[in-house]
Amino acid sequence: MQSPLDTLLIHGGLTTDPRTGAVNTPIFQTSTYAQSGLGQNLGYEYSRTKNPTRDGVESLIAECEGGQYGFAFASGMAAIGCVLSLFKSGDCVVISSNVYGGTFRILDKVFCNFGIGYKIVDTSDLNALESALTPEVKAVLIETPANPLLTITPLEATAKLCKKKGVLSIVDNTFMTPYLQQPLSLGIDIVLHSATKYLGGHSDLVAGLVVVNDSALAERIGFLQNSIGGILAPFDSFLLIRGMKTLALRMQRHCENALFLAHELSRHEAVERVYYPGLESHAGYGIHKAQARAGGGMLSFTLKPNYDYKTFFKSTRIIVLAESLGGVESLLCHPASMTHASIPKELREQMGIGENLIRLSVGIEYAQDLLADIHQAIEKSRVQ
Ligand SMILES: *Cc1c(COP(=O)(O)O)cnc(C)c1O
Repeated sequence: MQSPLDTLLIHGGLTTDPRTGAVNTPIFQTSTYAQSGLGQNLGYEYSRTKNPTRDGVESLIAECEGGQYGFAFASGMAAIGCVLSLFKSGDCVVISSNVYGGTFRILDKVFCNFGIGYKIVDTSDLNALESALTPEVKAVLIETPANPLLTITPLEATAKLCKKKGVLSIVDNTFMTPYLQQPLSLGIDIVLHSATKYLGGHSDLVAGLVVVNDSALAERIGFLQNSIGGILAPFDSFLLIRGMKTLALRMQRHCENALFLAHELSRHEAVERVYYPGLESHAGYGIHKAQARAGGGMLSFTLKPNYDYKTFFKSTRIIVLAESLGGVESLLCHPASMTHASIPKELREQMGIGENLIRLSVGIEYAQDLLADIHQAIEKSRVQ
């Protein structure tokens, strides 16, 4: 599974400090920079606008995504909020069904106050997407695989359709990371991340990233980043660079463990259904295989009615019940009451997110330990 990205993640971006030769990007904990005369500076004036440590992570993510311009934010939602600020009253954004709950919420409860509308579309169906692209639609924001059913949307076909209609295509690449999937190379306009997840990778950081190729678009996003001000702090920029250095190794293990557990769960008598894009039985498996290098570290499953899912959630010993994903440790989540709680129940069930759906962020532990933990929790959940 090795690739040139293994090297790029370690040596890419602005790593070595030109002044001292420091091998790691120093933490420039400063808000301002001395000017030698009026209008004379070394490229830095004020840290909301530009900071050398943030430059380090912004150039690194841009190179890893195969893009020209990177932007770092205080959270994934700050990144998404900034990108959505490209639009104005009367515009409409199409989102995939099953987008991250926070993405739905910011459109439904915040941007609607500014007259920006949204439409939820099953973007795995290209015809459904095409008929949704009415004149007021200015962008399509997709996740593939989408949380929590790991629904697959074809990236290249979506990018083509958006180009034809003059609509911006935006991909939230949090679940795949550039290590597994590079949407810009398939014609997508904007890639964004919650770097809180796999890129940071250690559940010790909240951060967001945006990457684009087009210089005019980069100028607008840079302007918004500086105007709105939700930037990533120097120390967090350093932590993110540090996390990204091991992304290749971590993703390899996440994928290996998740595929193993997906196979094991599929043949377990207590399990009703497994959702994992690396399984041949998964809807969209072929499309995913063509646009991504592996299935990733996220899987979901449902237990049969004679097993009590509530008991399962309190019975694991290694796997922690918690929000978030993408860290080295395995995490368990109940989408209906956690990540997708902000989506009304009716809409949620329509999307296929039932009460008995269990989402697993598979960590990098010994796979047999994870399997044993799941087995004993399932055993405890059996209703006599
Ligand atoms: C977590 C997440 C976000 C939000 O990012 P934060 O860093 O929590 O603000 C957005 N999209 C996806 C897919 C996520 O998993």
